[in-house]
Amino acid sequence: NEEALYCIGCGALLQSQQQQQAGYIPEATLEKYLAQDNVQELYCQRCFRLRHYNEVSAVPLNDKHFQQLLQSIGKQQALVIYVVDLFNFSGSVIKKLRQYIGRNPILLVGNKADLIPSSFNSNKLKDWLRQQVKKLGLHPVAIELVSAKKLTNIDDLLKQIMKLRQGKKVYVVGTTNVGKSTLINAIIQAHSDWQNLITTSNFPGTTLNEIRLPLAEGGEIIDTPGIMHDNQISQFLAPSELKYLAPQQEIHPRVFQLQAQQTLFLAGLARLDFISGPSGSFVVYVNNQLYVHRTKLSQAQTFYHKHLGKLLQPPVSQDHLPPLKAQTIITKVKSDIVFAGLGWIAVPAQVRLQAYLPQGLQVEVRPSLI
Ligand code: GDP
Repeated sequence: NEEALYCIGCGALLQSQQQQQAGYIPEATLEKYLAQDNVQELYCQRCFRLRHYNEVSAVPLNDKHFQQLLQSIGKQQALVIYVVDLFNFSGSVIKKLRQYIGRNPILLVGNKADLIPSSFNSNKLKDWLRQQVKKLGLHPVAIELVSAKKLTNIDDLLKQIMKLRQGKKVYVVGTTNVGKSTLINAIIQAHSDWQNLITTSNFPGTTLNEIRLPLAEGGEIIDTPGIMHDNQISQFLAPSELKYLAPQQEIHPRVFQLQAQQTLFLAGLARLDFISGPSGSFVVYVNNQLYVHRTKLSQAQTFYHKHLGKLLQPPVSQDHLPPLKAQTIITKVKSDIVFAGLGWIAVPAQVRLQAYLPQGLQVEVRPSLI
């Protein structure tokens, strides 16, 4: 049997030659399946491990391939579903999306709505999203807030897709880890019995190739591999520590009444110094399990070096963590200080701050979400 076989988890072409490359499956395993004529259930070794042991093995991700795919969308008539992570908007940005996809209409999906505190107003959240993507030159024809994991609003999303696609192909695009695969699974569950065919995991970079799903009404939904964002803290952590980053449940905002000359540490990964300005509330929106510590600015440096990897963990090991680097921020209005991939701290207007992330990562400032 010389037919090309694809992993049903990630869509990679199956091969038994190079263990380090996408789609690797040991020859013996492949033969076993072929003998049973069971090619419908073939997973590559990586997806198999991911599914059964939640264990990740890294595969080089080829961003060029991703760009080529996106560009091919621009040459077709398609509805583009752009999925962003509401908790990690800055990590969801695809800078040149407009150029890539041409004039095709965009349906913007804010995923992981289950993580956002229920006190947030969804209309305001949509307005906020609209403003954010406008900066990227994007004017979505509709915005839906969903939770692919909790299956919230999936029916509304499906209705929108059906309304907007008008016979066109549907492409799902997004950076890695925004939840594209989970979303597609959710759509599949709502619509047919192709269940859980796509690999989902806690680890960035798991969707590899195009995956095509036929729609009952004709046409297909096409999942694309995500592009990896390098402005993310996850690259410095071990897989076992990633659980402290992406929250699993609704975030409980943690409120600190701070005065000037105080410091907040987000475990050992980030730091915010309140240099000057009137005292006020600083509200931390990060994983509920991530340790947040308040201290005096004058003691912060000593404290950090003494407790890094212990009280201030993650990281457990400092070996791969570059030193924290400061950026000066002065706010005019109420703002969110966004720590790539970790979450954000809402800060008052008219304050002077120093925000720290491991060297190489950028802190971002945006008008406050609420
Ligand atoms: P992809 O790389 O964009 O395909 O992302 P995945 O579908 O593999 O999801 C990445 C991670 O986000 C996984 O750990 C998912 O469980 C998680 N995830 C996906 N959708 C949601 C959601 O709606 N809410 C929450 N809390 N997590 C989600």
